[in-house]
Amino acid sequence: MPFSALGLSAPLVRALDESHYAHPTPVQAAAIPAVLRGDDVWARAQTGSGKTAAFALPILQHRLDTRGRVDRRTLQALVLVPTRELAAQVGAAFVHYGRHLPEPAKIITAFGGVSINPQLMALRGGADVVVATPGRLLDLVDHNAIRLGTVATLVLDEADRLFELGFADELGRILALLPVRRQNLLFSATYPAAVESLANQLLHEPTLIEVADSAATTPDILERAIEVDVPRRTQLLIKLVADNAWSRVLVFVATKYATEHVSEKLRRAGLNAGALHGELSQGARTKALADFKTGDLQVLVATDLAARGLDIASLPAVVNFDLPRAVADYTHRIGRTGRAGESGVALSFITAESHAHFLLIEKRHGRILAREQIEGFEPELIEVPASPATPPGTGGVKGKRKSKKDKLREAAARAAHPSSAPEPAEEPVPNTFRWHRSSPGRRRL
Ligand code: AMP
Repeated sequence: MPFSALGLSAPLVRALDESHYAHPTPVQAAAIPAVLRGDDVWARAQTGSGKTAAFALPILQHRLDTRGRVDRRTLQALVLVPTRELAAQVGAAFVHYGRHLPEPAKIITAFGGVSINPQLMALRGGADVVVATPGRLLDLVDHNAIRLGTVATLVLDEADRLFELGFADELGRILALLPVRRQNLLFSATYPAAVESLANQLLHEPTLIEVADSAATTPDILERAIEVDVPRRTQLLIKLVADNAWSRVLVFVATKYATEHVSEKLRRAGLNAGALHGELSQGARTKALADFKTGDLQVLVATDLAARGLDIASLPAVVNFDLPRAVADYTHRIGRTGRAGESGVALSFITAESHAHFLLIEKRHGRILAREQIEGFEPELIEVPASPATPPGTGGVKGKRKSKKDKLREAAARAAHPSSAPEPAEEPVPNTFRWHRSSPGRRRL
């Protein structure tokens, strides 16, 4: 099916042709007509499956359709994302897809960690679409730089992350500033059960889109589990990078300290490695990611900051040096590879401390990977426990470690709502996505 059959006009189709998008992906084929109809949409589709275009294209089309009827530069669409890097990426995608519109849409991207002044300046005279992280958006509201009362379409990208308590207060404040009658679009690859009721509260008779896992839609990611002792992981990583001749590898670790520590050890071994975590300046964050995308950095050692949404072309490998604490993050982390039809490999290092935890992740995904050992790195410490258990000192699969910022947000949320229930840590993702209510618009693909 061509994009034009979905109701997209020539200027948008031209931009897609130039990007060599031959056909809509399943989530695009389902979401674009629904968004154009004005439906609320609740979409779950695999990592790397083209979700950004699934909401950006109909929003741009809508702007084209309402030309002359809606004042230009009157905010029509607000896209919220959980990280600054994702805001930059999604904002750039809107500009890219809309570049042939007869009157280019004014797209403003706003995120924290950088001076607010250029964003204040950019918002003078209004904007058609704003892509923002919640905290900076509220700063802009507090500066009277933006009014949200005209927003016709709200998008929550990585919606489950935005529903976590860390963002709850900010999200609540933003929702209160939006018109009651509006279109709501939720996109993510994962929806832990805990967020379903929040989603249900937000959405009005949504079209439910679930791109079911199938050979055609499941990303081509070879998952491997390699047993190794904790002190030998860096040396094993160095060997694997060399043996596999990976042009690039994204390595996930548990802490900011570990990003610095591991990347330093890799540099000492002669690899071009950098660190990415939330306590770097925004300039350093942007540079690390840009250098990784251009290939100047071969190895990027990151916290879960890099787990969500980032689209890094031709990334052949992801390594879970430390396992993610939340099951959903496993899906998002490995989904940085195998994007847009490419193939990739995702390795998880399994240590004596973490292998019970990995069993839980596997259980939630409904399959067990064969354990591998690499010659010369056979573990001496791994013992197989009788049953999956909570790894000591980690707080277990439910207790995703919170960033300092999340803790501050949560403290603020609790202060504002002292009677609210205790923090609902991210729940393990059910293996099959359960919809709580049926809808005539529901589609299974
Ligand atoms: P996303 O899931 O939105 O981050 O998109 C993942 C990757 O797929 C990006 O590199 C997009 O440029 C690419 N992409 C999106 N839609 C299509 C399509 N219809 N055909 C080919 N590639 C696409």
